[in-house]
Amino acid sequence: MLKPLFQYIDQNQNHFVQRLGDWVAIQSDSGDPAMWGQIDRLLNMTAERIREMGGSVEMADVGTHQLPSGQTVPLPPIVLAAFVRDPEKATLCIYGHVDVQPARREDGWNTDPFTLTEISGNLYGRGTTDNKGPVLAWLHAIETYKATKQEVPVNVKLIIEGMEEVGSHGLLELTRRMNDSFFSDVDFIVISDNVWTSNTPALTYGTRGSSYFLVEVDGPKQDLHSGVFGGSIHEPMSDLISLLGSLIDHTGKILVPGVTDAVAPLMDVERKLYENINFSLEELKNTAGVQHFLQNTKEEVLMARWRYPSLSIHGIQGAFSEPGIKTVIPRRVTGKFSIRHVPDMVPSDVERKVKEHLEQVFASRKSPNILRVIATVGAKPWVADLKDPQYVAGQKAIRDVFGVEPELVREGSTIPIAQNFQEETGKSVMMLPIGAHDDGEHSQNEKISRFNYIEGTKLFVAYIHELSQLKGQS
Ligand code: MN
Ligand code: MN
Repeated sequence: MLKPLFQYIDQNQNHFVQRLGDWVAIQSDSGDPAMWGQIDRLLNMTAERIREMGGSVEMADVGTHQLPSGQTVPLPPIVLAAFVRDPEKATLCIYGHVDVQPARREDGWNTDPFTLTEISGNLYGRGTTDNKGPVLAWLHAIETYKATKQEVPVNVKLIIEGMEEVGSHGLLELTRRMNDSFFSDVDFIVISDNVWTSNTPALTYGTRGSSYFLVEVDGPKQDLHSGVFGGSIHEPMSDLISLLGSLIDHTGKILVPGVTDAVAPLMDVERKLYENINFSLEELKNTAGVQHFLQNTKEEVLMARWRYPSLSIHGIQGAFSEPGIKTVIPRRVTGKFSIRHVPDMVPSDVERKVKEHLEQVFASRKSPNILRVIATVGAKPWVADLKDPQYVAGQKAIRDVFGVEPELVREGSTIPIAQNFQEETGKSVMMLPIGAHDDGEHSQNEKISRFNYIEGTKLFVAYIHELSQLKGQS
């Protein structure tokens, strides 16, 4: 049943690549408001393409945004699209973004970042993997069903934005606003906006959250001479170092009492997932440039990155940091650290415990200086249920197309989008990447390989098919 569909994709691959070239040529850099007109243009092209395939499109107004200059400018709209609905079928909502990170040839690109260039099977250009290639692959998957006169076996909706790289302005509010309308009949939300962990196709079922902390110690009314005042005053820097030193030990264990209590226990089923991941500790050592990790095995390192919390100290503002020597006692210093949290940690609870802990350590020093702790939550952690039909269909589709067992992976970094959709809509969310681990998203010479782009399109076609099969059985 999938064969004629795959044939169509193979026969049209040059056309699909050409379309990616058209999209890459549009400099839809959301970081520069002067380029937002290009984002509008690309969103309109996307809408036009969906209409050509028979879908209906609403360009949802998400209001205005205030620039750092104080000027208020209208935000690009968000594309909400739907194809004719059959109440007998499951409904899949596809999320993607058409804006990109900035890129300049002088930054170290070997080719013009806005001219799609194919070299040895790789398609180079800004946005090829993040996220224009995957968005087009979804559109081409729908096209493939239509062009081969096969009924699309699920109802398809799309939500495509142009502000992802700067924080998805307006998306969360729109999701809330559309919860009882656009999202009401959606069963599954799929996001293809990350990459595989290795060379093996993967499904992503979790991301870590994050909180960022500022710890300020404010002391004398000005910087002081260490020869004059050293030994007679409570130095803000010494206070701060002891505060920062109380957070984590040499094994990577977070020492803030109670913070890790809520971490979900490791079950046998999950433990096995790490064994199957094609991942070389040696290679990672080389990439990071370290002699060894805090853990000894591949499984332990992956778990430390994906399913356990971590605490990193990032900087000290106000410290003397220039070359040379200066016998100064800085009057005020601010330490900066963050915690990556994981299910079932609650960010507000973490924040409270960190504050209590720092206040207690500070109190024990009997310092007359003033302590201030400020916390900001970046995003909550996200984890999906692997038994969800969407994940079963995703795994089958990977076997159909690539003939291998998929890797079930998480992201150690924080991607708020999946958690936001899951929390706001209550729907099942899956991340189904098609990019490779070395695509270099956000970096110079970003690429997607022709193989990943074209086989990825097949994967989406197969996924739609497998999803409809499962729904029939349930
Ligand atoms: Mn992206
Ligand atoms: Mn990105």
